[in-house]
Amino acid sequence: MQKVRLVHAWCWYCESCGRENFENSIELTLDEALSNGTIDQDTFDEFSEVTDSAIPVMIGAPDVVKCKHCGDSFDIEMD
Ligand SMILES: [Zn+2]
Repeated sequence: MQKVRLVHAWCWYCESCGRENFENSIELTLDEALSNGTIDQDTFDEFSEVTDSAIPVMIGAPDVVKCKHCGDSFDIEMD
C-alpha cells in the first residue's frame, strides 16, 4: 500500500456561508524562524540545544484565509 504524509492543518468555519474550511499549517525550522523574526536569538539558542535547527519544529498559521466555497476572505483571530 502506498503511503501519504499527514500534515498539520487549521480548521475554520466561514462567517459568511458557515461551511468548514482547512488551511495548511506553515512549517518553520528554527533557522527560518530566527531569520524572519518569529523567535529571538535567545529562544533559538535554547531550542538549538535540544533539536536540529534545520528540521521543521514550529507550526505557524496564515494571516488571511479565503473560503473555498463562497470566496470571502478573513483575517485570522487566534484563541
Ligand atoms: Zn464561505
